[in-house]
Amino acid sequence: MRPKVLAGNWKMHKTQQEAVAFLQEFLGKLVDTPSDREIVLCVPYTCLSVLSKSLHGTRVKLGAQNVHWADQGAFTGEISPPMLVELGVRYVIIGHSERRQYFGETDATVNQRLKAAQSHGLTPILCVGETKAQRDAGETENHIFQQLALDLVDVDQSNLVIAYEPIWAIGTGDTCEETEANRVIGLIRSKLQNPDVPIQYGGSVNANNIDAIMAQPEIDGVLVGGASLQPESFGRIVNYK
Ligand code: PGA
Repeated sequence: MRPKVLAGNWKMHKTQQEAVAFLQEFLGKLVDTPSDREIVLCVPYTCLSVLSKSLHGTRVKLGAQNVHWADQGAFTGEISPPMLVELGVRYVIIGHSERRQYFGETDATVNQRLKAAQSHGLTPILCVGETKAQRDAGETENHIFQQLALDLVDVDQSNLVIAYEPIWAIGTGDTCEETEANRVIGLIRSKLQNPDVPIQYGGSVNANNIDAIMAQPEIDGVLVGGASLQPESFGRIVNYK
């Protein structure tokens, strides 16, 4: 049985004060959440310290949204794996399409970040997915297979989560049909050495579509942006039927 991993990606949202207020309300939603569901909050670096303390003794795991490959060095603006580990971080998103699109992240740097994260015991959440133009041109499969081939060189598939995030579905309200997400995730799985890697769907997941998404056999969880910002909606998501 592959674990179900339900992760929030807060992106560049919430001050420390707002993060603590979120958590107080969100923890109250977890009373009846089945214990085999892994719940992760990937928050801005500035919220890690305070949430690390507030999450102590709870079932919610802490995640970051990126990590550098070096332990330390002249890399202005970057954060290293040991810095995250010290704060109790367990998961880290790597290769999110916003990093690739706006910050010049390439498959080569994604691969370096993945290996560095794993070497420090962090579990990466690797994001892959196609643009609207690639989908319209019938290049979805080839593009994703190429991302996987490049990103996963020498990556340990026993400590990895993959998120299939079609770029056209992110933040648009235009969710990928759950059967189509299921199909692509099945194809991704067919390319892995380890078929037990949990593979999430991400892109406009919300409280209304979560049940249908999680009913799909290949989909092992979700990576949620906008709908992870409110305790009410993220609570509904982690408590999917
Ligand atoms: P969204 O973002 O849920 O707001 O579409 C998902 C993501 O970018 O991980």
